[in-house]
Amino acid sequence: MMIKAYGAPAGDKPLEPMDITRRAMGAQDVQIDIAYCGICHSDLHQARAEWAGTHFPCVPGHEIVGRVASVGTQVTNVQVGDLVGVGCIVDSCQHCEECDVGQENYCDAMIGTYNFPTPDAPGWTLGGYAQQIVVNERYVLRIRHPESQLAAVAPLLCAGITTYSPLRHWNIGPGQKVGVVGIGGLGHVGIKLAHAMGAHVVAFTTSDSKREAAKALGADDVVVSRNASEMAEHTASLDFILNTVAAPHDLDAFMALLKRDGTMTLVGVPAEAHPSPQVFHLVSKRRTLAGSMIGGIPETQEMLDFCAKHDIVADIELISADQINASYERMLRGDVKYRFVIDNGTLSTAS
Ligand code: NAP
Ligand code: ZN
Repeated sequence: MMIKAYGAPAGDKPLEPMDITRRAMGAQDVQIDIAYCGICHSDLHQARAEWAGTHFPCVPGHEIVGRVASVGTQVTNVQVGDLVGVGCIVDSCQHCEECDVGQENYCDAMIGTYNFPTPDAPGWTLGGYAQQIVVNERYVLRIRHPESQLAAVAPLLCAGITTYSPLRHWNIGPGQKVGVVGIGGLGHVGIKLAHAMGAHVVAFTTSDSKREAAKALGADDVVVSRNASEMAEHTASLDFILNTVAAPHDLDAFMALLKRDGTMTLVGVPAEAHPSPQVFHLVSKRRTLAGSMIGGIPETQEMLDFCAKHDIVADIELISADQINASYERMLRGDVKYRFVIDNGTLSTAS
């Protein structure tokens, strides 16, 4: 069956409407009518071939929410009509030590929601800028927020889990001082989550204009990172830093803000390498520089349930499919508060 989608025909071309197919339903498959899909900076990196290995046409989108339209004969976890989500993972080997403990995100055979190999046409996965998707039920998440919040739930499927997982892994909670660097799609959710976990949150931004907004998101302090004296006030005081910045930058400036045994975890994946760190900043206080990639399926469900309980959703700007290219440009300028979400109902008329 043909469905409407929006994708990039090549790395140097804008995204455009296209018709795609989804596989026939298997016994464990769930067919979802996609209501909304968030726009992650990873979509831009991939669609513009900033990361190696993009297959074209590329239909991005891994912040998917919608309703179950049909289920395969062996599906037990969801029913037709349920509100569900799909994040960055649509398959994995299902039997390695990572899959066994629900860390499918670290399975060597993980299949991402777009641009990963699949037997389905066209030979690589196509993401959520589309009317529908067919996904094995293991990778389908339950949404317990009210339906009125559905569009704002979409970004939780990537921005939410990518920030929740490291905050949990490094045991963030009351009594800790946590920095969140970059107030974009990931960062703004990270601030809300760290605040809800009880930490004292310091937001670091390059944009003076985001100062007040960051407080409204839950930051206790806001630092404009271009201002050296503001940065110096936090020297050797933070337990943990979550760095979401999508561009190469000086990591040492942030490493210096960690106290002894503090950790900075990178989740931003710029196309070019960072110019640092200096070993001195690591050894002088036994600091750790770490990384983290999305999160496993059980933890993604845990995050969605945590967000439903704490009334956390993303701050979004809802757009039509026609506005996807313009939204990419605005995202590059930092002109988004704080996540674009596509109304997939507009795909049928997009030009
Ligand atoms: P985004 O909405 O564009 O936000 C990134 C933020 O970083 C910007 O809003 C800006 O915040 C800051 N920034 C951008 N350029 C900067 C620069 N040159 N110097 C300093 N700060 C800069 O992007 P996103 O969707 O949150 O994604 C962020 C990164 O995470 C991307 O690289 C994406 O691919 C990656 N990602 C990784 C994972 C994972 O599993 N690890 C998952 C999803 C996304 P301020 O205006 O506040 O400075
Ligand atoms: Zn993403």
